[in-house]
This record gives sequence, C-alpha cells and structure tokens, in this order.
Amino acid sequence: MMKAILVMLFCPCLLLVYLFFFYQDESDQICASADRSPCPDLLRAEVSVVIHEGIDSLWAACVLPEIDACAIRTASWGEAHCVIHQLASAPAQVFEHEMNHCRGWDHDGTGIAAYAQPWRVNRGLWLARGANQ
Ligand SMILES: [Zn+2]
Repeated sequence: MMKAILVMLFCPCLLLVYLFFFYQDESDQICASADRSPCPDLLRAEVSVVIHEGIDSLWAACVLPEIDACAIRTASWGEAHCVIHQLASAPAQVFEHEMNHCRGWDHDGTGIAAYAQPWRVNRGLWLARGANQ
C-alpha cells in the first residue's frame, strides 16, 4: 500500500486514474449481512438504551406504531448520538438490528425480507457526523 501511495505521489496522472476508477468513500459501502452480524461503525455514536415494559410507551417514544424497537439517531458537528428504544422482551437480534442503525446503516423497506438485503449507509447522518472525523 505504501509503495502504491509513493508511486501515485510521483505520478499525478496515475493518482487521477486511481481516484476516477477506485476511490469510494465510506458512504458508498454496503453491509451485506446486517441482519446477522455487526456492520462497520461509521457513526461512532454514543449509544444509550431505554427498555420499555409496555408497548404504549415504546410506540410513543418511537413515534411509529407496530414496531418492537427503534433507534433514534442524531448527528452534528462531529458528534453522533443514538437512543435505542426496545421492549424488555425483545430478542437479542432486535438489539443488534438497532445497533446497526446506530452504526449508521439503514435497510430499504421493512420486514424480514428487506432486513436480509444489503443495508446502505445513511449518507445524511454520516455527513452530519463529520464523515471521517
Ligand atoms: Zn430497522
């Protein structure tokens, strides 16, 4: 890798070719197995967890009804925060799902089939967090 960087420093045209064909920032990634394992932590958010005993308080916190957990994320000026709200009875995989949201990832659509598809970076949050800061 170091040799490649040195070659590119001395050959600006190669650097341009590299950037054109190979450069991708973190927000271009996908997380292929987000429904089964942790995705890379792109937000590095400060995470807190609120356990709800009843569905009414959970749905009030999450705003959306008919869900068993949610992750509410905020990011700005180089900081990110994520609050996971979930039922006390939620299985461990629900927490891991919400943690992947806290790590900066989103699924397209809802339901088990959508969760099994590759997840994408929430670019807006990633940029608000300060990207690579
Ligand atoms: Zn989700």
